[in-house]
Amino acid sequence: MPETVYDVAIIGSGPAGYTAAIRAGQYGLKTALLEKDNVLGGTCLHVGCIPTKALLFNAELWDHLKEAGEFGIEGVEARKLNWAAVQERKAKIVNKHTKGLEFLMKKNKVEVIRGYGRLTGHAQQGIHTVDVKGPDGKTKALKSRNVILSTGSEARMLPGTEPDSRILTNIEILSLKEVPKSLVIIGAGAVGVEFASIYKSFDADVTIIEMLPRLVPVEDEEVSKELARVYRKRGINFHTNARVEKVEKVKEGILVTITVEGKQQKIEAEKILIAVGRKPRTANLGLEMTNIKPEREFIKTDSWMQTTEPGVYAIGDIVLGTPQLAHVGAMEGIVAVTKIAGKPAKPVNPERIPNATYCHPEIGSVGLTETRAREAGYNVKVGKFPFTANSRASIVGRHEGFIKIVSDADYGEILGVHIIGPQATELIAEAVAAMEMEATVEDLVWTIHAHPTLAEAMLDASNSVYGMAINA
Ligand SMILES: Cc1cc2nc3c(=O)[nH]c(=O)nc-3n(C[C@H](O)[C@H](O)[C@H](O)COP(=O)(O)OP(=O)(O)OC[C@H]3O[C@@H](n4cnc5c(N)ncnc54)[C@H](O)[C@@H]3O)c2cc1C
Repeated sequence: MPETVYDVAIIGSGPAGYTAAIRAGQYGLKTALLEKDNVLGGTCLHVGCIPTKALLFNAELWDHLKEAGEFGIEGVEARKLNWAAVQERKAKIVNKHTKGLEFLMKKNKVEVIRGYGRLTGHAQQGIHTVDVKGPDGKTKALKSRNVILSTGSEARMLPGTEPDSRILTNIEILSLKEVPKSLVIIGAGAVGVEFASIYKSFDADVTIIEMLPRLVPVEDEEVSKELARVYRKRGINFHTNARVEKVEKVKEGILVTITVEGKQQKIEAEKILIAVGRKPRTANLGLEMTNIKPEREFIKTDSWMQTTEPGVYAIGDIVLGTPQLAHVGAMEGIVAVTKIAGKPAKPVNPERIPNATYCHPEIGSVGLTETRAREAGYNVKVGKFPFTANSRASIVGRHEGFIKIVSDADYGEILGVHIIGPQATELIAEAVAAMEMEATVEDLVWTIHAHPTLAEAMLDASNSVYGMAINA
C-alpha cells in the first residue's frame, strides 16, 4: 500500500482547527485533523465560549424571575435553583455540538486522528512529517504537504498557584458542585467579568481585582465606566489599580492580599478564579526543529497565516498579534486553507474584529476606541445614544448602556462602534458589516431600521454624530 500523503494536516481541533478542516474538505483537499483529547472542539466548546454562555443564559433567566413581579407575573417568589440541572443542561449543549462536529468531519471527508502531534523538521521534497503519539503510547509518522498549527491556549496562573478545588481556572469553575458563597476573581477582562456576572446573579458575594485602572481595559473608557456603574449597582465589588501580593489557603477558603494605592488589604473568599490571560500552547510542538522562533511563546505569521517555516501555518490563540477569540481563529483557518487551495483570500483586518462580552450588561465593540482614534490623529466626531431613550429597551426592561459611534469628521468614516447594553453582542454585527463594506455614518443614517427594535439605537447613534438623533 502506498503511504498516504495528506494535502493538509491540522494539529488541534478547536474552532480554528475544525473550521480549517471543514473548509479544506470543502475544497477537496485530503485532510487530517489531529486531536490529543478524546473530544473535538477545544477550549471554546468544552471549557470556554459555549459552556460560559449557557450559564450566562441561565443567570439571565434567573435575574428575569427576580423581577417577575414588575412584569405582572406572580407566584415565582419561591423559586429554587437546581444547580445540578443547570450543569446538566450545559453539558447537553456541549455534547450536542461535539457530536455535530464529528458529523461535520465525516460530511467533509476529514480524517480525524486521535493523538499528540509534533513537527519533526523541514519538509523533504515538499512533504512534512508529523509525529503522532496515539492514545496507545505508540508514535506514527504522518506525511503532509502542508501543516496547520492550531494548538490553542491554556489559563495563565499567578506565580506559586496551581489549580485545585479552591484555586480555579476556567476549567474547574465550570464544573463546581455548588454555587460558592463568595468568589474572588483576579482579572477584569472578558472571562473575569463574565464569571462575575454569572455568580453574582446566583447570589455569590463577588469581588474582582484588576491590575489596570478599569474593568474591561481593552474597551472604550466610557464602556468601562458604564460597566463599573452597573456592577456597583448589582453589588459586584471590584478593586482597580490593584496588585495581588499573596494568595493563601486558609481553613475556610482563600485569603488574598492586595495592594491598592500603596495600601494593603486582605480579602477572604471560598474560592478564587484566576483569569489573567491565556498562554499559547507552543511548547513540545517540535518548533525547535524548524525555522519558527516563538516570541513570548506566540507564533509570528504573515497575512496568510504562514509561519517562517515553508508549508507550516499557524492559526488561533497561538498567533502573535491577533486577539485570542474563537471567531478570529476560525477566520484565520479559512484564510490559511484558502491560500493552500490556491484560491483568492482576504487577510484578517484587526480593525474589523468584533469583541463580544456576554456579562450583564453585554458589551459589543469593533474598531478604534475614541482615545485610540484621537491618538491616531483622526479628526474625531462621536455620536452616542442611550438605551433609556429606545422603546424596545423599555419593553424588555433593560435600560443600561448606550451605543457610541466613533467617526472621522472629514469623510464620515466609521472608525469604531462601542455598545454596552441589551443584546450588545448581537447588535455589534451590523457595525462590523457596515465597516467591512466601508459604509460611512451617512450610509447608516439612510438605512431604515425596523421599529421598535434595539437596532434602532444604531440609527439614532449615527444621527447623533450630526447632533440630530430623533429620539433623544
Ligand atoms: C472561559 C472562556 C470563555 C471564552 N469565551 C469566548 C467567547 O465567548 N467568544 C470567543 O470568541 N472566544 C471566547 N473564548 C476564547 C476562545 O475559547 C479561544 O479563542 C478559542 O478556543 C481558541 O481556539 P483555538 O482553536 O486556537 O484553540 P483551542 O480552542 O484551545 O483548541 C486547541 C485544541 O488543540 C488541541 N491540541 C493542543 N496541542 C495539541 C497537539 N500537540 N496535538 C494534538 N492536539 C493538540 C487541544 O487539545 C485543543 O482541543 C473564551 C475562552 C475562555 C477560557
